Amino acid sequence: MEVALKIDVDTHQGMQTGVPRLAELLEREAIAASFFIAMGPDNSGRAIVRVLRNRGFLKKMFRTRAVSMYGLRTVLSGTVLPARAIALAFPQLMRELAARGFEIGVHGYDHVRWQDDIDEIGESGVREELQDAFEAFRAIMGAPARAFAAPGWRTNDAAAIAIDAMGLDYRSDTRGRYPYRCAIGDRIMATPEIPTTLPTLDEVMGRRDLPDEAAMLRFYLEQFKPDALNVHTIHAETEGMGQLDGFRALICGLKERGAKFVQMREVAARLNRTETPVCEVVRVEMPGRSGWVAGQGPDRAVGAP
Ligand SMILES: [Zn+2]
Repeated sequence: MEVALKIDVDTHQGMQTGVPRLAELLEREAIAASFFIAMGPDNSGRAIVRVLRNRGFLKKMFRTRAVSMYGLRTVLSGTVLPARAIALAFPQLMRELAARGFEIGVHGYDHVRWQDDIDEIGESGVREELQDAFEAFRAIMGAPARAFAAPGWRTNDAAAIAIDAMGLDYRSDTRGRYPYRCAIGDRIMATPEIPTTLPTLDEVMGRRDLPDEAAMLRFYLEQFKPDALNVHTIHAETEGMGQLDGFRALICGLKERGAKFVQMREVAARLNRTETPVCEVVRVEMPGRSGWVAGQGPDRAVGAP
């Protein structure tokens, strides 16, 4: 069983508190992982605006206890309180993570803008977000980023084409089954896509059939496929903070089952790009998540339109 842990960092608080805790735990357990960090301002408070338009979001705020989990400062960030920087506020921490052997990739610039408005900001807006994010990464790390993971698993044709032109080692923008190459019409993107294969904790938290940590642990251990690559996305704000004990139990359970932990870049390095399946990207809904995410469509026979 292979497990790639993808750790998304969406907020200032997640970077400040969740990332060091996760790094310490993973280091102690000798577990490889890949951090994807939002580079720009923490506008997570703007997500509150979604409450006014989206009943699903309001329900989720209560269900996942967003205020107690994220803290009031984060929930108001970018609204009545000014937005704080995420990666740019912690350049030393970023460099330390890399020095300790963790992989670091780009998780967008303004996470909220990308997630909420990707279809509204147009090609120029998408390019602006990518450019700002990759420039910030280079400024902090002194070397270009090699991987991108879309905020909120949202992408569109303009984003896919712009990312492909950057010549990255891989991207991780979607939810799916196994690594693939994205098809847009007749075009096949060269950059492999390594999708998240498991549901995230915030999607299953509060489910009636998973009333406690023991049930949640059993559920997750059943989700990991023994004969496949499992890509599990966790959040610095969730597993790195309030849900750290549950995450520790999960990695111990996986270790007991003989899991081998790999970084996403190792997965990308061994992919044979021309033999990787070709799939369209489709928009899907995930139980427990409001709105759409990008998903891996059915395999397309290579050569077929
Ligand atoms: Zn994110």
